[in-house]
Amino acid sequence: MSFETVPKDLRGLRACLVCSLVKSFDQFEYDGCDNCEEFLRMKNNKDNVYDCTSNNFDGLIAVMAPEDSWVTKWQRINRFTRGIYAISVSGRLPNGVIREMKNRGIPYRPRDTSTR
Ligand SMILES: [Zn+2]
Repeated sequence: MSFETVPKDLRGLRACLVCSLVKSFDQFEYDGCDNCEEFLRMKNNKDNVYDCTSNNFDGLIAVMAPEDSWVTKWQRINRFTRGIYAISVSGRLPNGVIREMKNRGIPYRPRDTSTR
């Protein structure tokens, strides 16, 4: 995907490394991630937003009815909130966050499909 094809106002967007939800940096800072805030704690925490989201992602899916879409099942996001999701997200969660997810019994699957 060439950057010339991305509208200017989409450039500040970031994707959550855990669920691939796409929002602007400010939205992540003000509201956290709608799916992962419980363990990512990005609200009012710029460092966590930088650590747990990535500005390097590919492909966008708009999800309106996550529970009855084959696309969301294929992307394993059918239990998440409606919104815009990236198809592939590059980047790596900090080990501490992966450990905390493990402690909560949440499996972490990297969203980076470009290397597979
Ligand atoms: Zn998330």
